[in-house]
Amino acid sequence: MSSQRGPGRRPSLPSFLSGVVRRPEGAAGSKPADAPPPGRRPPTIQLKSPREIALMREAGRLVARAHEEVRKLVVPGATTADLDAAVAAVFREAGATPLFLNYPCSTKGKPAFPAVICSSVNEQVVHGIPNKRPLREGDVVAVDTGCRLNGWCGDSAFTWAVGPVAPEVQKLLDVTSETLQLAIRAMGRCRYWSEVASLMEQYVKSQGFSVIENFVGHGIGKDMHEEPQVPNFVSKALRKHDIRLEPGVVLAVEPMVAMGTKEVRTLEDGWTVETKDRRPSAHFEHTIAMTSDGPQILTLP
Ligand code: MG
Ligand code: MG
Repeated sequence: MSSQRGPGRRPSLPSFLSGVVRRPEGAAGSKPADAPPPGRRPPTIQLKSPREIALMREAGRLVARAHEEVRKLVVPGATTADLDAAVAAVFREAGATPLFLNYPCSTKGKPAFPAVICSSVNEQVVHGIPNKRPLREGDVVAVDTGCRLNGWCGDSAFTWAVGPVAPEVQKLLDVTSETLQLAIRAMGRCRYWSEVASLMEQYVKSQGFSVIENFVGHGIGKDMHEEPQVPNFVSKALRKHDIRLEPGVVLAVEPMVAMGTKEVRTLEDGWTVETKDRRPSAHFEHTIAMTSDGPQILTLP
């Protein structure tokens, strides 16, 4: 008889956040409020009004409904093409435009994205193309999708376990989801995104996993990808062009976490990104609006 290796104890998120307090403007250690850093141009962030945020919530709600359909379908034997068809139907019935279908590829000569969802299985990190291979028990599948409804965008992602998965894989899913929850809570307490990114990075590393650095979150509004870029880790570039978390800022926050190496490669199809060590990764995403009442998740049912 073998004993099952448990996922180990994780610090609870509130305790992880306990040292984080929103500093008053201009307090020691905080950055000067509005002075852009010298040198390069800071990102131009389109602030959204409360009315615009309400419209984005409608798009977000529809994206959440699409993920509900996906959740019901993720069982051994289902295919990612099935998941894609289900999400396409939800968007079509609501009169929404899928954001991923026909998205141009950044690699020259490669085709536009051919589906409504990205489905990334096991070692695939992001941008996997749906296909007819049946999912197997023990797989994990990250499903990312977005739509435009009445001119405004919503974007979110979940990673699902297909039946029971290995404890270490379940821990990867839990930690990645918790990293997103941690970020959302921290957005209510931190003045700058770099503080949030630092907490995300610390939490992932404290669990023995790594943060994918080649892909990042993004501003979102009338377009899916607006400025600024929203990394899940701290870098000199982020500190130089930090994001002030003020009301009207809307970000797609999307931690991508690898069990092993953070190094990735893109496959021949020009889209699918996988870990170089081919160990599993996970991806969760919500569209989050900063409001005068704090951060609000727009991609909820
Ligand atoms: Mg997405
Ligand atoms: Mg996104």
